[in-house]
Amino acid sequence: MLVNINSILAKARQGRYGVGAFNTSNLEITQAIIQAAELLNAPVIVATSEKAIQYAGIENLSQLVITMAKKAKIPVALHLDHGKSFDIVKECIKHNYTSVMIDASHLSFKENLRLTKQVVKYAHKRGVSVEAEIGRLAGIEDDIKVKKDEAIYTDPDEAKRFAHESGCDALAIAIGTSHGAYKFKGKPKLRIDILKEIAEIVKMPLVLHGASGVKIKWISRVNKFGGQLAHTRGVPDNLIKQAVKYSISKINTDTDLRIAFTAGVREYLIKNPEGFDPRKIIGLARDMMQQVVEDRIKIFGSKNKALPPLP
Ligand SMILES: [Zn+2]
Repeated sequence: MLVNINSILAKARQGRYGVGAFNTSNLEITQAIIQAAELLNAPVIVATSEKAIQYAGIENLSQLVITMAKKAKIPVALHLDHGKSFDIVKECIKHNYTSVMIDASHLSFKENLRLTKQVVKYAHKRGVSVEAEIGRLAGIEDDIKVKKDEAIYTDPDEAKRFAHESGCDALAIAIGTSHGAYKFKGKPKLRIDILKEIAEIVKMPLVLHGASGVKIKWISRVNKFGGQLAHTRGVPDNLIKQAVKYSISKINTDTDLRIAFTAGVREYLIKNPEGFDPRKIIGLARDMMQQVVEDRIKIFGSKNKALPPLP
């Protein structure tokens, strides 16, 4: 069923588990996400970035997700990831997204607040939830690049003021994660101390971006069949498990799906040099992405947290 994201995240915050927000840009990724969630009876968020929307077309992509969400036995929210302007927010709401993110974290506190308030007013009138962001993550997400030295940890007092004054429904914070596959130079570290402080004073679901695990096993699978991905480190499972105890209710994952997709396509083509059936080539990738989504759901603790299906 297609649902408002607030119903999913309020329960997650209360139950101290995380709900996965997985990025899609096509049919097979969406199937992998929803099938995994159904199999594990977990609520799930399907997210599309602006780049994904440009790639697939907003009508195609939203209709695809909504059609599958409505048929699913579990709650599914359709979410705009990193919306950078009021225009894209309006466009998504027009196409029945149930949640939007306005990311004005690159602007000053004042400007971020002003734009977020404007979005909240517009979205709430139409029954749509809003995620905002305060603090900046390093890394690359689609076209959005932030250098490491421009990344800023979220200030707890600012977060409190921002959450209160903007009226947003969920807040993305920066505690040391970063977008993309290359997250940590040394030992992975998250500022759980900052998160604790924020969780105590900001009484709403918090969001962790740039949280992919970038597991060695998947990097190796890509490289085994001719890939040349560097062995890097993502966010370890134990840090994710700690974070969900402190109001991290939504956890974004994109990179892990991309890596699994690449592993599947490479493996199929190398093992079947005579193959040219797109369904088989992408089919294996879809199975591998589903495996990743299942693994993530188990780590986040949202397995069996879907409401029982309505009679
Ligand atoms: Zn993000």
